[in-house]
Amino acid sequence: MQHGYKCEDCETAIFLATTRTELSWLRDRAHVAREVAKHSSGGLDTWMMDGLEFLNDHQGHSIVVVVRR
Ligand SMILES: [Zn+2]
Repeated sequence: MQHGYKCEDCETAIFLATTRTELSWLRDRAHVAREVAKHSSGGLDTWMMDGLEFLNDHQGHSIVVVVRR
């Protein structure tokens, strides 16, 4: 089972190696995570970087957390 983000405006989705809870958390706190990413030399987990990139690309769109079996 994989979880990911789907943009309802663009009808595109990505699936990431993490849980639904983590994805909801990141979506609601993307602005915080972006700040952390800027100031952390080690960077963030891969799923977080990829997730943030998706959220950046779809700012102002309707993003939902989806699951694929
Ligand atoms: Zn979009």
